[in-house]
Amino acid sequence: RIAYVNGRYVPHGDAAVHVEDRGYQFADGVYEVVTVVNGRLVDEDPHLDRLWRSLGELRIDVPMSRAAMKAITREVIRRNLIKTGLVYMQVTRGVARRDHPFPKPGTPPSVVMTAKHVRLPSRQKVEDGVKVISIRDIRWERCDIKTVGLLPNILGKQQAREAGATEAWQVDDDGMVTEGTSTNAWIITQEGELVTRPATNDILNGITRLRILKLAAEEGVKFVERPFSLEEALTAREAFISSATSFVTPVTQINDTVVGNGKAGSLSLKMRDWYEGFMDGLRES
Ligand code: PLP
Repeated sequence: RIAYVNGRYVPHGDAAVHVEDRGYQFADGVYEVVTVVNGRLVDEDPHLDRLWRSLGELRIDVPMSRAAMKAITREVIRRNLIKTGLVYMQVTRGVARRDHPFPKPGTPPSVVMTAKHVRLPSRQKVEDGVKVISIRDIRWERCDIKTVGLLPNILGKQQAREAGATEAWQVDDDGMVTEGTSTNAWIITQEGELVTRPATNDILNGITRLRILKLAAEEGVKFVERPFSLEEALTAREAFISSATSFVTPVTQINDTVVGNGKAGSLSLKMRDWYEGFMDGLRES
């Protein structure tokens, strides 16, 4: 495997940043994960839009042009012979003697890119659905920024793992579900309406989330962006999670409560089919 690190392509095992990188010391950086399917990047431009936005919100210098970023992305995919997998890109505020304030102007941001092969789950696996648990949302007030500061997410995901679940849905102080630790959360009400939390500072506005909303509109699915409670989720007809790597993944159990009849819901499966159809239709770029 080959990684890109600050202007160089290096063997993955040797790929390293300096010990005084602010990403390493302070989680002072942002990232994106873009899926590759059949050699094509899924929603590359929206991912780069969000990366640029994250950089802007944290006042980290843009490291290079979007065209350069795209060229490196393609080179990393090519060098790793990725047909189906993902590209990870990370930009930090760079290397400087450890001190909380921003380093002096002109300190170059660090840029790292890696790619890996991923095998897609079988249809059976998708139809079986996954279990989620609920946890308290203990994160900060800028969850809209995709930073590498992921400790609450990591603790939550580990808690899910240890409970035999795939994801943990984070619940705010009002009892409303914000999102998963690395996915957005969705329910389909008993009335058949698709519901997901609005994209405020409380959640990461998933690129997959945005694509699903677009597909729902095109397919004439009734949907609404509003907060929903854990209680409502427990009595929902269907539920699913979404992300660049999980696409649309049906949820069949929340804590000890079975969702619907315990099988993936029909609208959830349709949403997944539409999403897969969208990916199949992507052009080489
Ligand atoms: N929410 C959180 C907290 C995430 O970390 C992610 C992705 O990693 C998502 C939602 C889903 O975002 P996307 O669809 O852009 O992958």
